[in-house]
Amino acid sequence: MNVEAPRGKTVVVQATDIRKRYGGVVALDGVSLTVEEGEVFGIIGPNGAGKSTLFDVLCGITKPTSGQIEVLGHDVGTMTPHLVARAGVARTFQRTAVFGEATVYDNLRYGRHASFTHSVAGRIVGSSVYRREQAAFHHKAEEVLALSGLSDDRARLGNVLAYGVQRRLAVAVALMSEPRVLFLDEPAAGMNGRETADFISLIETIAPGRTVVIVEHDMTVIKALCGRALVVVDGRPVVVDAPERVFKHAEVISAYLGAEDE
Ligand code: ADP
Repeated sequence: MNVEAPRGKTVVVQATDIRKRYGGVVALDGVSLTVEEGEVFGIIGPNGAGKSTLFDVLCGITKPTSGQIEVLGHDVGTMTPHLVARAGVARTFQRTAVFGEATVYDNLRYGRHASFTHSVAGRIVGSSVYRREQAAFHHKAEEVLALSGLSDDRARLGNVLAYGVQRRLAVAVALMSEPRVLFLDEPAAGMNGRETADFISLIETIAPGRTVVIVEHDMTVIKALCGRALVVVDGRPVVVDAPERVFKHAEVISAYLGAEDE
């Protein structure tokens, strides 16, 4: 497991001195981090520490008050979420973002959206671009269904799936865009032990060849998957280290103990 960012590798996510203020609330107070190609990188911290805000800033959903974010060499702070997606970045949401009235298979279409270039007219007349993109979609969908263990669920509606399966579908949707960088926002929240174990093996399967950034409360997930984790406390970065070592840092211990007392 890497503790140091591997040397000589490509930097995929670079955040420099990120600050985010909501009125009088300072959610992020000078966070910098570097994630290198191929890493599974964790972001942890007590409730209210700023993890979700950092996550949203890193994937371009929220603009920082100041600071720079580069993902795959793109200045995310100035890009729309759609352009960030086109650049090879995908994310899952904290709350399950599965369309309940659509089948598993149709949910996968939403993940492919950013890469479709055919026009509405092209779809109606069945243009060659449309047919080519449909063929690519079906091919990718089969691969993703198999990878995420959802092949037998393809015709089921999103709203009848067990919670853990919905979360897997959310990852499957993200994989449809063939992302080089995958951001996962508290993917195991609300899962039981079995679902968490299944989820960990799904991420282990899909991580090779990508860079993955996970915000997660559940330390089982962070320890199982992440080479390094950043601990955020009160909007500040406290330590980046191997997950099993971060809890040896005094400031991390007291922040977590303080949070338990509240
Ligand atoms: P975490 O994900 O670690 O629980 P958050 O990023 O959600 O922390 O929140 C960090 C701080 O910023 C908290 O004090 C929270 O109340 C505040 N905050 C987050 N989002 C908003 C918002 N949209 N408006 C005002 N304050 C916010």
